[in-house]
Amino acid sequence: MAPGADFYAHANGGWTAATVIPADRAGFSTATILSQTAQAKVRAVLETAAAGPARGEAGQVGAYYRAFMDEARIARLGARPLAADLAAIRLASTRADLARLMGQANAGFQSSLFELEISEDTHLSGRYAVYLSQGGLGLPDRDSYLSADGADLRGAYEAYVRRMLDLEGWPDSSRAAADVVAFETQVAKASWKAETRRDESLIYNPTTPEALTRDAPGFPWSTYLAAAGLRPGRVVVRERTAVIALAAIFASTPMETLKAWAAFHIADNAAPDLSQAFVESWFDWHGRRLDGAQAEPPRWRRALNQVSGGGWKSLEYSRGAMGDAVGRLYLAQSFDPQARASLDALVQRMKATLRDRILASERMSPAAKAEALRKVDAYDIQIGSPAHGDTYEGVVLRDDDLYGDVSRVTAHDWAARRARLGQPVDHKYWDITPQTVNAYNEGALSLIVFTAALLQPPFFDPRADAATIYGVIGATIGHELTHGFDDQGRHFDALGQMRNWWTPEDDARFAALSQGVVERYSGCEEAPGLRVNGKLTLGENIADIGGLQLAFAAYHSSLNGKPAPIIDGLTGDQRFFLAFATARRDKRRLAAVRADILSDPHTPDPCRVNEAVREVDGWYVAFNIGPGDPLFLPEAERARVW
Ligand SMILES: [Zn+2]
Repeated sequence: MAPGADFYAHANGGWTAATVIPADRAGFSTATILSQTAQAKVRAVLETAAAGPARGEAGQVGAYYRAFMDEARIARLGARPLAADLAAIRLASTRADLARLMGQANAGFQSSLFELEISEDTHLSGRYAVYLSQGGLGLPDRDSYLSADGADLRGAYEAYVRRMLDLEGWPDSSRAAADVVAFETQVAKASWKAETRRDESLIYNPTTPEALTRDAPGFPWSTYLAAAGLRPGRVVVRERTAVIALAAIFASTPMETLKAWAAFHIADNAAPDLSQAFVESWFDWHGRRLDGAQAEPPRWRRALNQVSGGGWKSLEYSRGAMGDAVGRLYLAQSFDPQARASLDALVQRMKATLRDRILASERMSPAAKAEALRKVDAYDIQIGSPAHGDTYEGVVLRDDDLYGDVSRVTAHDWAARRARLGQPVDHKYWDITPQTVNAYNEGALSLIVFTAALLQPPFFDPRADAATIYGVIGATIGHELTHGFDDQGRHFDALGQMRNWWTPEDDARFAALSQGVVERYSGCEEAPGLRVNGKLTLGENIADIGGLQLAFAAYHSSLNGKPAPIIDGLTGDQRFFLAFATARRDKRRLAAVRADILSDPHTPDPCRVNEAVREVDGWYVAFNIGPGDPLFLPEAERARVW
């Protein structure tokens, strides 16, 4: 494939043709390879812990892992571990009883129509706040309930709900399942769209429990909050109109429907920890149907995902029940000190380049530039592992009680979150574990994190050619740096506080830039008829474009005026862009791509690569791309993020 027609295919066509997605996966990518490397190390850590003495943190991790691996015992128990939690749902006789169970959702297996979270207050920097969001849906996104072409999916979902209710012995399961889906459809109608949910200007609505009771009557808020162990003076509501509507829906829905809904969701939440009948039904729906996977992952990998982190789908994102404990055991064996030193140097050069580009920027006013520079200086970039993480002291973990283990760890975790209220924000705390393959930017903390598991070959090798290092990890560092200036990140100032520090002219120029990015990405087709949602992915796309522009400039400054060597017949610039594209190779099943496009704020990789390179001037020179090439973009239309 010609580079100017489809650069992703130009770089990865051979790989795509030769790669077979393993039956138990939704896709295969560079991230999969990194995850597999990290997983092999984590598996060794878990098996050593499971075989070792029942002492200390390693003893707790070992007991949990043994409990998950004891398939014979789990099979004998059947649905019995659910009995007490299910009885609480059966015995609920008032709406307050149900709200109380919802309040317990963060501390165990119950579900809630609303999500509660303790995180950094985006408007009062240095403090934590209680956030309240819309919830209650079982399908991936609200649109799945409402779209004209979703009837098939909804039918399959209803069958899954019925199967779960049958497995737990819920009466009249087929009518109950229809009621549950009808109820969730009402909830979906009232819910905000995924792209609106990431608009920082709309999702910060502070209120009090008293005002919530007045504005969103019909839901027993004080009972709910008390059951969650909270007595907050202040609650920040995210999707305000949805929360109000959901309270009214709760009040008008028959008790029997609400109870069936709770019964279904507790089975859905607990199924991976129950007997094979639950596991199979769960996988049939979540794995086969939603992700397009064909076979269940082996039990050890499911155990690992649960204890250490990673789900069956998004391996990269979940923290895992005891993720930080596993992380401490993992790091003891596997982080190359040379990697840390050369990354530190790379990060410094990327920051210096960003400073230069801000100073030279034509879209930023002098006042905005001054604050932007302060913001770059304030970035706290942490590499490898956090200074400290979650601890599990006092949590009882037994190798004969998996359901109890999960409940106790979850309750412990929620108690730790609650204890943060009133405390200053912990700037050393990470949202992900070091054995997770990822990086992130936490705007309210000016914190950027790169994990130890991300910083390993083939993604990062301190001994690789500079063009490759900048094209891969440089672009990733640039991506995270740029998040601080994307459509949402730009609202935070150097102190991590949300405030408007841009002039109206800056806003207008940024809006014009964003408009072009939204239009171009929305035009990119991942599969016939399957287009990227340019609005949902805007922040990630700006980060990609800016990251690539920064990395390219930083690569050139690293050459110190000397010409780059030719290697394998390729110039340095060619290797830079090819490394960017090959690091983002990703073959995914169509079902998974479809699900990602609905709810994932990242653009799927083929469009991600093609759309980013065509915004960088250097790419046109490196591959001799001209107006006749399909990916050609006139110079004046390219987004000058940096
Ligand atoms: Zn990102």
